[in-house]
This record gives sequence, C-alpha cells and structure tokens, in this order.
Amino acid sequence: PIDPNFRENRVATTFENLKVWKDKASNLGIYGTGVAVDFDLCVGDGACIDVCPVNVFDWHGSGADRKALPARERDCIYCYGCEAVCPKFAIRVTPL
Ligand code: SF4
Repeated sequence: PIDPNFRENRVATTFENLKVWKDKASNLGIYGTGVAVDFDLCVGDGACIDVCPVNVFDWHGSGADRKALPARERDCIYCYGCEAVCPKFAIRVTPL
C-alpha cells in the first residue's frame, strides 16, 4: 500500500500542476498530495476513474503502462471512493 507518511518520507518534485513525491527506491513516485496515487503500485485498472463523482482523474500514459493521474485533485469532495476501490491500496486521500 501507499505510504501514509509520504510527505515526510519523500522529496517533492513537480509535474504539471501536481507535486510528485520521490524516494530513492521509487522509479515513478507518488503523484498528487490531497489525492495521492502511488504510480509504482497503480496497475491502471481504472476503478478510481470510474468511481470518482467529480472527475478528478485523467489517464496518464497508455496501454499496460497507463496510470490514474489525479489531475484535478483540488476538485475532490473527499468521498474516499477511490481509496476503497483501488485493488493495490495505491491511493491516499487527505483533506488539505
Ligand atoms: Fe474522487 Fe472521491 Fe477519490 Fe476525491 S475521494 S478523488 S471525490 S473518488
């Protein structure tokens, strides 16, 4: 599962309007902060994209490598649906 303390344990870089939280062992990192998706765990099944009532996510990449990007994390209404449906527990939602 995603590290709930990623903000303390990782260093932030940026991608578009999001922070990307990197650590030494992580190739891809955690994208987003209030709605954080660990790209190293995401299997791209799209359950979070389907469940989100306010369209926070976009696909990032394509094919087997696609990931759920929390492109509009500021629109999140904190229903926690995405956390609940993720088969890899790759998402952490934290009201900012
Ligand atoms: Fe969307 Fe709910 Fe997840 Fe927020 S917590 S990103 S509103 S599914």
